[in-house]
Amino acid sequence: MGYDDNNVFAKILREELPSHRVHEDSHTLAFMDIMPVSKGHTLVIPKSKCENIFDLDEEFLSAVIRTTKVVAEAIKKTFAPSGVVITQLNGAKAGQTVFHYHMHIIPVYEKAPFQPHPKDVEDDAVLASVAAEIKQTLA
Ligand code: AMP
Repeated sequence: MGYDDNNVFAKILREELPSHRVHEDSHTLAFMDIMPVSKGHTLVIPKSKCENIFDLDEEFLSAVIRTTKVVAEAIKKTFAPSGVVITQLNGAKAGQTVFHYHMHIIPVYEKAPFQPHPKDVEDDAVLASVAAEIKQTLA
């Protein structure tokens, strides 16, 4: 099948679709998941055309991991979760729904147990406010 240039995250990278960005460098972009599992759920994507871990080259893989740690630390500092799940899915059979490689950073709170499947699109103002808090910590 191959990489689809019109997948949602490719459009976010090209700014053809809106997103709430919290961090960006030459190789990666981090932005709020539109259907968050929990407050602070953030995605990190490489600025390269790859569907999954098998076609992500090492330069971008390293960059994604570095950014994931930076953003996860900011989320931890900002929202003081009880834990943080960091995960990514490879292939439709593994549950992947957007075919541009992405890492999930999902804070876990004691009063809101971890749920693997987001269902509802979050209010835009809520996403903007959560993104602003993370950005302030990163600043
Ligand atoms: P996965 O199931 O690992 O492929 O995860 C895809 C994630 O992308 C899901 O958690 C969705 O909520 C999220 N998502 C889908 N469309 C958007 C979008 N336009 N902006 C931000 N996140 C999105």
